[in-house]
Amino acid sequence: FIDQLACLRDLPAETRDGVRVQLLTNTGLLADVTPGRKHGAEGVGLYRSEIPFMLHDSFPTEDEQYEIYRQVLSAYSPLPVSMRTLDIGGDKQLPYFEIREDNPFLGWRGIRFTLDNTSLLVTQLRAMLRANVDNDNLRLLIPMVSRIDELQTFVHIVDDTLEELQSEGVAVVRPPIGMMVEVPSAVLLLPRMLKYVDYVSIGSNDLTQYLLAVDRNNPKVSALFDNLNPVMLVALEQIVAHTRAANVPLALCGEMASDPAAVLLLLGMGLRSLSLSAHSIPKIKWLIRSVNFTDAQALLHKAQNLASEVEIRALMSEELKRLG
Ligand code: PEP
Ligand code: MG
Repeated sequence: FIDQLACLRDLPAETRDGVRVQLLTNTGLLADVTPGRKHGAEGVGLYRSEIPFMLHDSFPTEDEQYEIYRQVLSAYSPLPVSMRTLDIGGDKQLPYFEIREDNPFLGWRGIRFTLDNTSLLVTQLRAMLRANVDNDNLRLLIPMVSRIDELQTFVHIVDDTLEELQSEGVAVVRPPIGMMVEVPSAVLLLPRMLKYVDYVSIGSNDLTQYLLAVDRNNPKVSALFDNLNPVMLVALEQIVAHTRAANVPLALCGEMASDPAAVLLLLGMGLRSLSLSAHSIPKIKWLIRSVNFTDAQALLHKAQNLASEVEIRALMSEELKRLG
């Protein structure tokens, strides 16, 4: 069976009725590059840049960051690599920069933190943009966007940084800029936010947490944390509709992308780009190659009429059993 999955490496993730899905990988470690390439990732959909920061014992310098980013970009070049700017706070703490808060998930995290510490952000952007000079496959991704003005400010900072590097004689190009949709305000404001970005990536872990007001890491409420809660289907459908109307590419990079039950529904909804951990790629590719898009659509319509994630999961596991 493992061998069969290995054979899948060079086959496209395409449904039986010809719908092509792009399978990218989530990473943050140089050690993931080999498994990512081995499992046939078509690029990196989410590079969690906080991971190298967590492995250092002080803020890495521009040159230290440059060296790491350059290796990731060149390992995948010419395939695209979405590098997310620092997303610390919440559950992600740096050993050398403690943030103490009563409600860390509602606090100083992601883009909020970096816009309050612009020298950190500019250093990181300089390292990423410089690392892209010989590769040209960088895409920037903004975490935890909850306000329109965060996008405006971020875009300004990127443009200023590009100008600064150009004036230093560095041959930088402007990379596509994407936003994570992982906070409910971003779902509701999406039509107005889309004009500032070139693509959107759904962070289904945080989106579930914030839509349901359920801590993604608290075992006492873990039964309530389910990506297949009916409200997620409603939110995802809205995100698909808004991005389609504005013709902005959409991907999803949370854990949902490695859950077969969820993937069938995402496929039915129209998602065509998923980013997941490298070791889950063969399983999800096999699933996509086993189904018809039209069947996934029919399942989605059934799921949309159910009252709870329990009922939705029961429907999906029946279907997955049928597929073997
Ligand atoms: C998410 O929130 O779904 C996501 C992909 O980002 P992270 O898990 O790093 O918060
Ligand atoms: Mg997140």
